[in-house]
Amino acid sequence: MAKEIKTTAPDTMNQLAAVEPSAVYKKLGVDQTGLTSAAATKRQQKYGKNLIEKSAKEPLIKIFLSNFTSVMAILLWVGGFIAIIAHMLELGIAIWLVNVINGVFSFWQEFQAGKATEALSQMLPAHARVLRDGKQSEILAEDLVPGDTIYVEEGDNISADARLIQTTNMKVDQSTLTGESAAVSKRADSVSKLNVGHAELSNMIFAGTSVSSGSATAVVLSTGMKTDFGKIARLTQSVGNVESPLEKELDRLTRQISLIAISLGVFFFIAAVFFVHYPWAQAFIFALGMIVAFIPEGLLPTVTLSLAMAVNRMAKKHALVKQLSSVETLGETSVICSDKTGTLTQNQMTVSHLWLPKEELEVTGLGYAPKGKIISKSDAQFDATKDPDAQQLLRGAALASNARVVPPSPKNDNYTVLGDPTEACLTVVAEKAGLDLTMEAKKTPRIKELPFDSVRKRMTTIHSNGAQDLTYTKGAPNEVVALCQKMQVNGKVVPLTAEDRERIMQANDNYAKEGLRVLAIAYSDLPADQDLDAATIETVEKDLTFVGLTVMLDPPRPEVKAAVEECHRANIQIIMVTGDYGLTAKSIAQKIGIVQGDDVRVVTGQELKTMTDQELKKALSGQIIFARMAPEQKFRVVSMLQTMNKIVAVTGDGVNDAPALKKADIGIAMGVTGTDVAKEAADMILTDDNFASIVRAIEEGRTVFNNIKKFLLYILNSNMPEATPSAVFLFSRGGIPLPLTVMQILSVDLGTDMLPALGLGTEQAESGIMDQPPRSQNEKLLNKGIIFKAFFWYGLVAAIISFGAYLYVNFAYGYSLTNLATHGVVYQEATTMTLAAIVFCQIAAAINCRTINESVFKVGIFSNHRVLFGIVFEIVLLACLIYVPFLQGIFNTAPLQVHEWIFLVIIPIPLILVEEIRKWVVRRRRARA
Ligand code: ATP
Repeated sequence: MAKEIKTTAPDTMNQLAAVEPSAVYKKLGVDQTGLTSAAATKRQQKYGKNLIEKSAKEPLIKIFLSNFTSVMAILLWVGGFIAIIAHMLELGIAIWLVNVINGVFSFWQEFQAGKATEALSQMLPAHARVLRDGKQSEILAEDLVPGDTIYVEEGDNISADARLIQTTNMKVDQSTLTGESAAVSKRADSVSKLNVGHAELSNMIFAGTSVSSGSATAVVLSTGMKTDFGKIARLTQSVGNVESPLEKELDRLTRQISLIAISLGVFFFIAAVFFVHYPWAQAFIFALGMIVAFIPEGLLPTVTLSLAMAVNRMAKKHALVKQLSSVETLGETSVICSDKTGTLTQNQMTVSHLWLPKEELEVTGLGYAPKGKIISKSDAQFDATKDPDAQQLLRGAALASNARVVPPSPKNDNYTVLGDPTEACLTVVAEKAGLDLTMEAKKTPRIKELPFDSVRKRMTTIHSNGAQDLTYTKGAPNEVVALCQKMQVNGKVVPLTAEDRERIMQANDNYAKEGLRVLAIAYSDLPADQDLDAATIETVEKDLTFVGLTVMLDPPRPEVKAAVEECHRANIQIIMVTGDYGLTAKSIAQKIGIVQGDDVRVVTGQELKTMTDQELKKALSGQIIFARMAPEQKFRVVSMLQTMNKIVAVTGDGVNDAPALKKADIGIAMGVTGTDVAKEAADMILTDDNFASIVRAIEEGRTVFNNIKKFLLYILNSNMPEATPSAVFLFSRGGIPLPLTVMQILSVDLGTDMLPALGLGTEQAESGIMDQPPRSQNEKLLNKGIIFKAFFWYGLVAAIISFGAYLYVNFAYGYSLTNLATHGVVYQEATTMTLAAIVFCQIAAAINCRTINESVFKVGIFSNHRVLFGIVFEIVLLACLIYVPFLQGIFNTAPLQVHEWIFLVIIPIPLILVEEIRKWVVRRRRARA
């Protein structure tokens, strides 16, 4: 064995491009049978994993410190400082402490959210197909080593720098390296021009690039940071966090509220100085209390955390969201453009019939097990291997397929498919008929492939067959029959007449109306002088001989019907955009309820080309199905829907789907059948390719938005009872002693309120959430409803109750409204009661805010553990503030009497009951409407 090269230095790559593949193998110290697992392990120890080191993240300490340098935080630092120099040491320290707690809390939430997204980005590891131990197998891309033989095909990401050994119509997208987005042709031939950049070497492929079309075999030269891509150290798949509309809205909201808070603070400051003649420093602290009370601290991190938790929940429901911000867009989705095969149907193909020009054959047995028979109605003794037409049909179908069915093994009880299920079922039916596929492949070995693409809707394989080569073409009947001039009947080749074409298409339509999927099979003998190297689609796919149709069942997914119904209830329009035949598409759409009745327009790709934008727009507002669509045409449909102000979710799996996936508001790639390119272009990946998972994700999106509103309502709620005592104090010009001190305000806002608020951000989906139309794009978080509820309903009631509690203590000790306690233990007990009453009102609010219109008792009063824990925390913290001597001093509190505790405990009961009645009335009104 030749000496193994070390790694590929830039000049080495140019040298390896100049030599024959055999010399490359030799230089790498491998042969054509690939590496053994043991050799690969050894090489991995030497070269390391095939990983690109992540670009340096922002240091944690920097992120941590950023939480202490916001405008709000600076205000608190200054406030604390002023309190200290004004000889209010405890207050100053408390303000600083609050600032620290708030910063740590925000950091923790951000950190959690960050961890959640990082975990997600690791859930879809890249894979590579390699030749190991003489067998093709799939391994993690990070386990590739120099010397590995790899296979790549359309849509694959290339995981290492490699020298091409064999190619079929190979084109790659090298834009990540060159910035040039046009696909570049690649061939295995050695190159003579050596003084060029690597990307220009036509027989080299590079990590970080992808296959636009065709397929290839290549041998790996370098991996990980040694690749050209590694050297640039750019990341292809990073889960970035671009500021989304929601984040912008939250930012705007925080600034708005902060402005109001600061204006209020200034007002209170002036009033305190000039009305009540407070010293400046004390007035400043007083105003600061107001500002703190109003600013919704913790809003941004809580939103981020609730988005991250939703993303985690979605991942469990088979929807991987790449960006947190996509969650809110999901909640707004008003149209889903879904493909059919695999998403709405099971992609569990079984051939049910074979159609030959002379007769129809039935196939028994379901699934991928080769158990079943081919039955002829006219001949009970029918043997497909003896019938020349059936034999040719099955041979063509199987030999022009790339998929493999893997029999059950100790690890897996079922037959499983490697590759395209449409192709797998064709090999199964050939086996059912008794064809020996290994022998057939030996007799007529495949020498070239013109791969399938969804624009042509067919594929062709070329096989050597003695003196003359033979081709098999399989694909959509319309496309294949159009290329046929002859057909085979009883082993004889006869001209294909116009009537024959009509008869074939009639048979196709009859099957399609039943929702069956039909592929036509044809063959041709190539002229002996055909130059195979130069063979193209145009020179090979012509003058074919039609053999027959294969008809396959692909049942709808059982859960899809209910999901479709749910979408319709939620006013989400579903548009099927499929590559399949119109009648098949329509039949499936009817079966699963996407369309109702016969008033359905089926627009084909051909027809779409001739439609004006105006016509398309009009058609999109009715029941419509797009069939035989080229993936690029999805782009036009999506763009048009967007001009109609729709928020569009689009599914896709192929390379050509990428533009539509990018254009969509939510691009959804298939995790199982999807190509790497589609997955990269998408915002969300379905790990089960299932339509129902999209609907679950939309539900989560809607829930998150509602939860943010619940959170907001809750934290704004305490503003009114916190501000009212100061206002009363000011407007009475100090006649009514301050019922709530600044320290007490801080203890609610930055202490007791925090955890229940966080819990509300994680509330589960409310029933009926999918019975409402999608949220309007203009809907603001802080709408009139929330303002009214927060300030003039929950807030006002809480203000009255807490002021009542303050008076209650005064009256209990014999004070009157005109003569309230101004100092001493009664005053302390009275302000403690105001504080405690606010906390108990907030307990009711936390429970009330958990649902919008649903009864909390129905949802389960104990069902949200975080809210529950928050409430317990609230009470414990309050008890500490009241009973721990050290805190008593800081917060100016005094122990409460039993009757006062009874007063407090009763508070939430009427608040919850009244709110339950309101919710019940709304529900009843809705049910009647
Ligand atoms: P959808 O777009 O809903 O996933 P689809 O699988 O029918 O449905 P494409 O993959 O674009 O869409 O395929 C278009 C058509 O090409 C199919 O309807 C079928 O007629 C034909 N076809 C699909 N797969 C193959 C294949 N492996 N070989 C030959 N023809 C195929």
